[in-house]
Amino acid sequence: MISFNKPYISGNEIKYIEDSLTRGHISGNGYYTKKCQSLFAHKFKLGKCLLTTSCTDALEMCAILLDIKEGDEVIMPSYNFVSAANAFIMRGATIKFVDSNKNHPNLDVTKIRPLINARTKVIVIVHYAGVACDMDELVQLTRDNNLSLVEDTAHAIGGTFKGKSLGTFGSLATFSFHETKNITSGEGGMLVINDNGLKERAEIIWEKGTNRTAFYRGEVDKYRWVDLGSSFLPSELNAAYLLAQLESFDEIQILRINAWNRYAKGIQSLIDKGHISQLPIPEEEDNLAHMFAFTVKDEATRNDLLTFLKAEGVLAVFHYLPLHLSPYYLKLSKVAILPYCESFAKRLVRLPFYTDISLDIQEFVVNKMIDFFKERTDF
Ligand SMILES: *Cc1c(COP(=O)(O)O)cnc(C)c1O
Repeated sequence: MISFNKPYISGNEIKYIEDSLTRGHISGNGYYTKKCQSLFAHKFKLGKCLLTTSCTDALEMCAILLDIKEGDEVIMPSYNFVSAANAFIMRGATIKFVDSNKNHPNLDVTKIRPLINARTKVIVIVHYAGVACDMDELVQLTRDNNLSLVEDTAHAIGGTFKGKSLGTFGSLATFSFHETKNITSGEGGMLVINDNGLKERAEIIWEKGTNRTAFYRGEVDKYRWVDLGSSFLPSELNAAYLLAQLESFDEIQILRINAWNRYAKGIQSLIDKGHISQLPIPEEEDNLAHMFAFTVKDEATRNDLLTFLKAEGVLAVFHYLPLHLSPYYLKLSKVAILPYCESFAKRLVRLPFYTDISLDIQEFVVNKMIDFFKERTDF
């Protein structure tokens, strides 16, 4: 079976983990955590960075930091991973879901304004497949309505919009180092705090509601329970693994972009014949090669294609069941109709894609795709 994802080892992972053991400090906020945080902030020109155990945890920290309370409303795309919705619902918020754009799963910014009312506090966005949302409009919208903006940047490490890093537009941004992301620590995430007014409190929430981070810096004589919080910091073992990946980010991106381009070339004939459509990538230099996704004409074709590929030993997957149609949300709220989101959920396919996927495997996958459409049509 050709797997959908395979973790990549860039070289120094084991060495750094061994070194963290030698240093005698394997809980959180040690040498490797600090190295990851400063390299990440510096390399991608971001605000203050705090390493977390996941992007999910970073999103939960956002909801606490933004003081979300019962009755507050949060706007986000329905074509989305479940974590942002959970994070805000756990603080008592109601979620208002927005539809996707017609030609891309990113949220349609023009559909946000009618959802804003006096209870609205936050807009959470996702730069899906590494493609930036319309940040000019979003920044204006959040300013006009005095809302906080959170960027879920899990697909867009190293991305920019008009030359400015993704993850710097929101007062807060989150990243993921889950094994399916461009760089990984197995499970891991990063919270980016761009708003100076939130930096001190973020450290406290990160350390179980205590001022232990300030204590380590010698700023207070004892550390105390001063706020809400939880254990959001990962162990040094994870941070050591991540540092090796982070240091290899540029090489990893070259491998991924080459693999992405090989697929794109391989399926071009299927695009030309109108069997599949590529998601638009604005400029070639902006391709972050997070995933390789395309759409087919309808749900039946998508299901048949996935079944066909599986029978041939290729594990391709679909993506995001719409959150507004999920069983948990339907218990909380009435049905919404978000046609473009629903359409992407029915038609989008992701091919096996990982950093060191081989040319042979990619050729095999592409040939099977071509076989599928040949059998179904007089191709
Ligand atoms: C992967 C992902 C997450 C969750 O990340 P974890 O690190 O697994 O918690 C959240 N949002 C998006 C958009 C993701 O792709």
